[in-house]
Amino acid sequence: MSQIAQCSCGALRAEVAGEPDAVVACHCTECQRRTGSVLGVGAYYPKDRVKITGESKEFVRGTASGGEFRQNFCTTCGTTLFWSTANKPDSIGIAVGAFADPSFAPPVRSVWEQTHHAWLGLPEEIPHFSRGRTAT
Ligand SMILES: [Zn+2]
Ligand SMILES: [Zn+2]
Repeated sequence: MSQIAQCSCGALRAEVAGEPDAVVACHCTECQRRTGSVLGVGAYYPKDRVKITGESKEFVRGTASGGEFRQNFCTTCGTTLFWSTANKPDSIGIAVGAFADPSFAPPVRSVWEQTHHAWLGLPEEIPHFSRGRTAT
């Protein structure tokens, strides 16, 4: 099974094969700024199951743990479609919203809840972390 995530204008696309390794909801303020929404939700795939087409630009920022977060956005419409981190170079995160699929797999964990917007309800059954998974 393959699925396609795309930016607002459709010029930048990510075709993924199979199910994601993990879907993670992140409430950190970096994800809030990156998405313009109140949380970021990413689906993580091994690099070899992701095919990116179209032109993107990379923005690199530091992370709380001293690593690098490389986020890639469409040069025409600005949607951040995918990202990678220095500590997991073989994994690509894809913005779940870009699949525009309401039946997409739900998050397996919720991280950085210390900056979670209080009105936003989250499933009880998934693991919750006040910070990153390893820094709780
Ligand atoms: Zn675009
Ligand atoms: Zn985040």
